[in-house]
Amino acid sequence: MLVVTKGTPEMDLPEDVVIRRSAKRRRTLQARRDGDKIVVLVPATLPVREYERLVPKLIERVRAREAGGRRRSDAALELAAVRLAKQLAGDLNLLPRLTSVTWSTRQNRRWGSCTTTTGEIRLSSRLQSMPSWVIDYVLFHELVHLEEANHSPRFHDLVRRYPAHDRAVGFLHGVAHALANPDERWPADVDEADELSGGVGD
Ligand SMILES: [Zn+2]
Repeated sequence: MLVVTKGTPEMDLPEDVVIRRSAKRRRTLQARRDGDKIVVLVPATLPVREYERLVPKLIERVRAREAGGRRRSDAALELAAVRLAKQLAGDLNLLPRLTSVTWSTRQNRRWGSCTTTTGEIRLSSRLQSMPSWVIDYVLFHELVHLEEANHSPRFHDLVRRYPAHDRAVGFLHGVAHALANPDERWPADVDEADELSGGVGD
């Protein structure tokens, strides 16, 4: 088992991130703001694979918290892009083709866009109030466009690597439907459990 001993494993960390290893810390990692730095406390014997998986997530979480609730900054979006590209599409080597990931307030007709010639990805800032697994889906979708410009069968195969793919697509269809029918008074749920008259035991 490859473990973190000294030096940082090969990972592109933002400049304001400081990694501190602790021999006392057994399992849990922790990230906190310390002045202009984000300090990540890491167990001294953490397997490298865990380190690479968890550290970017923790940094994202600190930034998201600071940006207010679920909102992510451009920097957090960039980290999420690196995480998704490595975890789900390492074989495609997408990251060298990516030049920027940013939120866009001018994007009202689409949830995201990818300019394949320049490697620029933009996500509509209207996604910011949505669950993180929906934002990640749109981000991964745009990342896959770096490999496949069109919605070809291969594109769909690749984008389906995203674990919550069907759920996220359904969520966005629901939002699009509600937006297309703004005058409806939409119920908040399927039904109310209290009013159900269950037959069992009656
Ligand atoms: Zn697309």
